[in-house]
Amino acid sequence: MTQFKTLDDLPADLSGKVALVRVDLNLPMDGGSASDVTRVEAAKPTILELADKGAKVLLLAHYGRPKGQRHSTMSTSWVQGDVEEVIGREIMFIPEVTGPVVEQSIGILGDGDIGLLDNVRFWPGEEANDAEFAKAVAAHGDLYVNDAFSAAHRAHASTEGLAHLLPAYAGRAMEAELKALDAALGNPETPVAAVVGGAKVSSKLDVLTNLVGKVQHLIIGGGMANTFLAARGVDVGKSLCEHDLTDTANTIMDQADHAGCTIHLPYDVVVAREFAANPSSLRTCNVHEVGTDEMILDIGPQAVEALADVLKTCRTLVWNGPLGAFETVPFDEATVALAKTAAALTQDGSLVSVAGGGDTVAALAHAGVKDDFTFVSTAGGAFLEWMEGKNLPGVAALEQ
Ligand code: ADP
Ligand code: MG
Repeated sequence: MTQFKTLDDLPADLSGKVALVRVDLNLPMDGGSASDVTRVEAAKPTILELADKGAKVLLLAHYGRPKGQRHSTMSTSWVQGDVEEVIGREIMFIPEVTGPVVEQSIGILGDGDIGLLDNVRFWPGEEANDAEFAKAVAAHGDLYVNDAFSAAHRAHASTEGLAHLLPAYAGRAMEAELKALDAALGNPETPVAAVVGGAKVSSKLDVLTNLVGKVQHLIIGGGMANTFLAARGVDVGKSLCEHDLTDTANTIMDQADHAGCTIHLPYDVVVAREFAANPSSLRTCNVHEVGTDEMILDIGPQAVEALADVLKTCRTLVWNGPLGAFETVPFDEATVALAKTAAALTQDGSLVSVAGGGDTVAALAHAGVKDDFTFVSTAGGAFLEWMEGKNLPGVAALEQ
């Protein structure tokens, strides 16, 4: 892994120093307060560590998509209370990110105090990664800490520009995420298996193309398996299937062949004539027996058993996308069963398991195994771009 500085590289005493800390406070709201504070909990160790070293901690975050203008509904002041509650300390809200108000506020804050700057996306220079804007923000800090992996796929002033202007460090959550991702695809123990599921091939083309060159086993499930099955001449009936992408699927299978990557497609599937919970038309069959009026909604139990055997031979697993339409019973069964196998192997110490993706996190939580994986990323877009093999500008800037 390329090197980046962490909080371990900071002196023990940061009294008198101002730390600009990029965090993810883009919390889902329900009425006046956050419905999920996972993102604040993730940033808490970094915030407290810096504060306890005596730094004045200035939190820098975006909130919603204000597109370079002030919006009263998108001020970070809306999450101040939630952040205070999770962090367990008082936080001073500062309604700017540059200029005399910020300077005066820093004068009021004592060593170890925490301030919350307003939504950095109120200023067009943020998303434009404008050099003057970045300089004006950097002028208030002595050091920069990025603890928002979820925003690292954006080359914005607060995620990328600042890292070039101040001594830059990965926060604890960023550090954990980068270490986990490195263990999964950067420098993994082999053999590596990847599970890619979800609805569509089109949304994960770059993921598939990147993975065939990196993993020994590529397990394809979900709606996207239907497109691969169709490419192999299987009649998938009324299943969700991108028939215009069968050539692409064939190309990916050829690439896998050349790279020594085994692609695993299901040989049995769970089908129904209508998409509903426990439909009367539910049945399990071989992929060659799907009726013209049936839909494939999950992979079958034999396939799951075979995939469990594959995982048992692997040392590393990276997982994005559910194997079936898991929100509706019983089409969650394959996803739940394979997730439980992966969790058990992880707990036994034979598998490093890293998963990410909005629906994937929900599916693992549904299976009750979210805490039994080695690492579950909640980063969404940044996680997917990393799976695509892209260089994340926010990470690259820390590695300079
Ligand atoms: P993630 O958010 O983890 O990246 P995706 O958004 O790519 O995952 O895919 C999740 C969606 O795919 C779920 O809503 C699930 O219902 C759907 N899905 C999975 N398998 C099927 C299938 N066989 N037919 C239709 N939809 C499916
Ligand atoms: Mg999704």
